[in-house]
Amino acid sequence: MRSIFVSAGHSNTDPGAVAFGRREADIAVEFRNMVAFYLQRAGVPHELDGNGTTNLPLREAVVRAKRHPLGVEFHCNAAAAATATGVETLSAPKDMALGAEICKAVAQALGLRNRGAKPENAGQHHRLAFVQAGGIIVELFFITNAADLAAYDARKWVAARDVAAVLTQAAKA
Ligand SMILES: [Zn+2]
Repeated sequence: MRSIFVSAGHSNTDPGAVAFGRREADIAVEFRNMVAFYLQRAGVPHELDGNGTTNLPLREAVVRAKRHPLGVEFHCNAAAAATATGVETLSAPKDMALGAEICKAVAQALGLRNRGAKPENAGQHHRLAFVQAGGIIVELFFITNAADLAAYDARKWVAARDVAAVLTQAAKA
């Protein structure tokens, strides 16, 4: 079985986007830990960018990501338009199919729009360190959209379970 690196975006010193009093980094850590719970239960070998509330900085996450054939890093999207919604992934071409499966799982679980798997330069940056290290960036939902945030709070365990199921299949492939 292939091992998976599961990372929370941003770090203990970089909160990422902040909206409605919520910090992107906190959501990323929470979701990382929920996915890890299901991977542990399924017996899938995995490593995290810290345990509990620890969220190591990107430079350390990148070092660890390179030790694993599969990697995901969780983020929240953010936009000036409060109506921007949905889930998307950013990855290298080799991970586009897995990215699409993750998008579908999160979109169905949260009942949000599936924006789809995108190349790494589709986001606000052109080269993403985590993608360069062989991983997939997962933008779970828009933290700047109150309805997206409410959908996450209501159904996050379903999303974590379903993402872990996709990753478990990928680890076995
Ligand atoms: Zn982010």
